[in-house]
Amino acid sequence: MTSLVDKFGRQISYLRISVIDRCNLSCFYCMPTANGCSRSMGDALDLDGIVRIVRAAAVCGISKIRLTGGEPLLRPDLTELVENISAISGITDISLTTNGALLHQLARPLAAAGLNRINISLDSLQSEVFQRITRGGKLENTLTGLLAAYEAGLTPLKINVVLLKEINDGEVADFARLTLDRDIHVRFIEFMPITGDSHNWKKHYQPIDIAMKQCASIAPLLEEECPENGGPARYFRFKGGKGKLGFISPLSRHFCSQCNRLRVTAQGKLRACLFSEEEIDLRPLLGQEDEVIRAFSHALTAKPDPTCLDSDPLVRCRPNTFGMVSIGG
Ligand code: SAM
Ligand code: SF4
Repeated sequence: MTSLVDKFGRQISYLRISVIDRCNLSCFYCMPTANGCSRSMGDALDLDGIVRIVRAAAVCGISKIRLTGGEPLLRPDLTELVENISAISGITDISLTTNGALLHQLARPLAAAGLNRINISLDSLQSEVFQRITRGGKLENTLTGLLAAYEAGLTPLKINVVLLKEINDGEVADFARLTLDRDIHVRFIEFMPITGDSHNWKKHYQPIDIAMKQCASIAPLLEEECPENGGPARYFRFKGGKGKLGFISPLSRHFCSQCNRLRVTAQGKLRACLFSEEEIDLRPLLGQEDEVIRAFSHALTAKPDPTCLDSDPLVRCRPNTFGMVSIGG
């Protein structure tokens, strides 16, 4: 087994795979238009292709896999995919990021197939606000899904909240209080201008420190030790609280020097960085594991210098026509 370490000393152990670029919601900060992404499931990698990529990744020392999208639960063979990935030697952790709307039926089968953990995107606890952000989504579907995931043991359950000024910033305390008596993690994330919609970004971007201050005014926050290779969130706990609060600040305090991940898009393009457009097409290489392994090593050379990313978010995020739904958030 090899190990992926880039020239800045960052050890890559984590691969995020977008398994589909369609979605059943149209969050305004992610999906450029309400009509959804024009690319269909048709050109997403098939199950065999994804499994081959994960096998090669495992040979390179990657142990953690996150399946994302688009909305991964729309993929008809998702349970089978998880089952296949969990059988790959060296893969010790499989997680999923989802909007949860279809989780009600799928939480148990996914857990049985080997899924370890789940992140659910939930930006508001108020039906109308949820509907506005997702352009028509139903809050109750996501809440039912969340409960199903909890009951299926897909824990610790993480709730991702994109912080949006004048939309959901008044709900920070409501979200934070969920962690007082439940073992769940609520993570606030800064809104990135990834779709290039600078108008909405300027209007609704809120630095994460403001949410942190709002939380600290509820009860004292105790900082939690960051697990090794634990990702970009800074974690805290309310004194006596069961769950955790996470703060993710890709813009105000970026965490590129700790970045431990590579990404694969739904079409099989290997990306070294969310903020860079360089991609390696893995699809033509899938017949030869050696070539895929070589592509992983090569991708490391494309990981940007953590100190050299542009400080202007509108430049750094390089507007992507398809938004996060295409790259895989
Ligand atoms: N559909 C799934 C979901 O919503 O969880 C998985 C894909 S989604 C692209 C993954 C994550 O990216 C979500 O937590 C979402 O909130 C986040 N995301 C999308 N666009 C974003 C943006 N412009 N800024 C910050 N986070 C974003
Ligand atoms: Fe869909 Fe997730 Fe993007 Fe919302 S954040 S549009 S649920 S892919």
